[in-house]
Amino acid sequence: MTPVNFTHTDALSAQLKDWNASDGADLYGVEHWGAGYFQVDDAGQVCVNACFGSRSVSVPLIEIVEGMAERGLAMPSILRIENLLDDRIRLLNEAFANAIAQTGYANVYRGVFPIKVNQQCHVIDEIADYGQRFHHGFEAGSKAELIIALSQLRDQESLIICNGYKDAEFIELGLYAQTLGIRCFFVLETPTELPIIIECSKRLGIRPLIGVRMKSSVVVDGHWNEDSGDRSIFGLSTAALLAVVDHLRDEEMLDCLQLLHCHLGSQIPNIRNIRSGVLEACQFYAGLIAEGAPLGFLDLGGGLAVDYEGANSNSTHSMNYGLDEYCVNIVETIKETLDPLEIAHPVIVSESGRSTVAYSSLLMFNILDVRRSAPASIDLPANGECHELLNSLDQVLAAISTANLQECYNDSVYYRDEMRELFRRGQTTIRERALADSLHLAVLEKIAALIANVERVPPELERLPEQMADIYYGNFSLFQSLPDIWAIDQIFPVMPIHRLDEEPSRQAILADITCDCDGKIDNFTTPEGHRKTLRLHELRNEEEYYLGVFLVGAYQETLGDLHNLFGDTNVVSVYINEDGTFDFIREFQGDSIADVMSYVEYDPKQVLEQFRKKAEKAVRDGSITVKLRQQMLKAFRESLQGYTYFEQD
Ligand SMILES: *Cc1c(COP(=O)(O)O)cnc(C)c1O
Repeated sequence: MTPVNFTHTDALSAQLKDWNASDGADLYGVEHWGAGYFQVDDAGQVCVNACFGSRSVSVPLIEIVEGMAERGLAMPSILRIENLLDDRIRLLNEAFANAIAQTGYANVYRGVFPIKVNQQCHVIDEIADYGQRFHHGFEAGSKAELIIALSQLRDQESLIICNGYKDAEFIELGLYAQTLGIRCFFVLETPTELPIIIECSKRLGIRPLIGVRMKSSVVVDGHWNEDSGDRSIFGLSTAALLAVVDHLRDEEMLDCLQLLHCHLGSQIPNIRNIRSGVLEACQFYAGLIAEGAPLGFLDLGGGLAVDYEGANSNSTHSMNYGLDEYCVNIVETIKETLDPLEIAHPVIVSESGRSTVAYSSLLMFNILDVRRSAPASIDLPANGECHELLNSLDQVLAAISTANLQECYNDSVYYRDEMRELFRRGQTTIRERALADSLHLAVLEKIAALIANVERVPPELERLPEQMADIYYGNFSLFQSLPDIWAIDQIFPVMPIHRLDEEPSRQAILADITCDCDGKIDNFTTPEGHRKTLRLHELRNEEEYYLGVFLVGAYQETLGDLHNLFGDTNVVSVYINEDGTFDFIREFQGDSIADVMSYVEYDPKQVLEQFRKKAEKAVRDGSITVKLRQQMLKAFRESLQGYTYFEQD
C-alpha cells in the first residue's frame, strides 16, 4: 500500500489569525454576488446600500428585522427593498441609452417587464410608477397578466407586448387598449392565432399591432439549453413566418406586422450566445423587411442573467458579461448588421425580468434548532470502570492529527464494530454501546474538521465533512419560498445577516420545517466554488440567529406551493431615505392557517364547528369540563387565525 502523504496547508494558520467583519464578508462572497447592493459593516452586520446620485447610504438588515418585529411581522419574511428595484430599472435603461449614444444608433430602447417573473401587485405598481420616466412597459403572457398591465401602466409611450396563446377574448382586450392609445402588440406564437386576430380586428374595426416570434437556431448555455434552438416549443418556424407574411398580405394587413420577437431563454450565462442570437434575429429582421413587412421594433426577449455565484463565469448560475457589455453588444450587432443593408434602425425592445427584480427581494428566517451529528461532550466512566474498547476509542480520539486521519478512522470503525458485536451477544450494556457510538461520532467529527487542512484527502473520507455537518433547522418552507432550489437546483447566496465579526465555527446544511427530505439546502456558493456545507455560527442562548437568502426576487414567489400547507410568508417593502432612515412602505401578513385551509377547499367555520361538536360530546360524556372545552375551542380558534410557520410566544 502506498502511504498517503498529508501536508499542512495555510488553512490551519489562517484559522488562527484574528477574525474581523471583512473576513466574514469574504467568506460568503458578498462583494462578488452583491452587485454593490449589499455589504458588511464593521459590526459584522449585512447592510443594504441605496444609491442617491453619487452618494450611497447603508442600512443594517438587522435594524429592519427589529422594526418588523415591533410591527408584529414575524419570521420568515420576504423583505423587498424598493430602492433596488428602482435602481435596476434605471441601470438597464441608462445602459441601453449609453450604448445607443456611444454607437450612434438612430433609434431608442423600450424595455418591458415580463409580469410572470414577479406578479405581486406592489412590485408591478412600483415598476409602472418608477418606470414611466423611461417609458418602461410590460410583457403579458396571459389574459390575467394583460389585465394587470392594462390597469397598471401609466404612460402612453410604454409598450405592452402580449406573448402566449391568445383567444378572442384576449385579443379583444388588447384591441380596446389600442383605441385608448396604448401600444399593445400581439406576438404570434403559432400560426393558428392569426385568423383569430384578423377576425377580431375586422369585427371591431381596429387595426392590430402584430409581432411574430421567431425560432432561433442558437443553442444557449445554462439551464434552459434544452429549450433553445430548433427544439424550442415556442415560436414560428421560418416557413411559418413566411406563411404569416403571405396571409397578412392577402388580407391587406401586412402594414400591421411591426415587431419581430426573439427570446433565447432565461439566465443566459454566455455573452457569445447572446451575440449569435441577436445576429440571427437581425437577419430575420432584414428578411422580413425584404418581404415587405414594415416592422420597426426588434424585441430580444429576456435572458439577461444574474450572477448568483458572483463567479463572473459562463456557468449556469453565473454570467460572463456585465450589463453595459450586454447592451453594447446588442446595439452594435444590430447597427453593424442592418447598416450595410440600408435598413433603418428599429426600436430595441427587451423583456428583462430576472435581472430587474432578483436583487430587490430577500428571504429572511430564524434558526429554530441545530442537530449535531456528534454529541458536544461525552462523559466516560473513570478509567478503572471503563470498558477497554471505550478506552481505546478515547485514545483514538485524542490521537487524531492531519498526519493520521485514515488510520484513526480505521481504528475507530474497528473498535466501534467490536463493541456492537459484543452488544449483540449480550456481553456489554446498552450504555456502553451508546458511549462507543458517541465516541466514534466524535472521532468522525474531528477528522471532518481536519480534512480541510490536508492536501490529499483519502477517498473514503471525502464525503465526511458533509456527512458530519450540523443540520440547522430554519423557519421557512423551501417549497413555498425557494421553489427553484427544489425544482432546478438553483443556487442563491445564503448567509447570516449578523455576527460576521465572529468566526463561524460550525459546518452546516440547512433544513426547512416541512419535514420533507427534499426540504433542504446543501449546495452553497462561496468564492472558492460550490460547497456542500455552509459555515455558520454556534447558536447563543436566548438570542435569535437570522439567515438571509438573497437575490430571490425573480420567479420564486408565485412558483411556490403549499407543501405541508405552509403558506405565503409575511412581506414587507422598505424604502430607504437619503438620510439613512427607512420607511415601511407596505406590509402584508402572510397566510393564516384558515387561509391555506380554504385554498384546499376546507371551510374554516365548518372545521371549527366539527371540532366544537367533538368537544361538546366529550362534555356530555363527562370526560372533560365545560371550562376545558372553552379553553380548547379558544386555542383552536386562535390557531386558525395564526401564522402557518413556527411562532415564538
Ligand atoms: C420568461 C420570459 C422572459 C423573462 O426572461 P428573463 O430571463 O427573466 O429576463 C422574457 N420573455 C419571455 C417571452 C419569457 O417567456
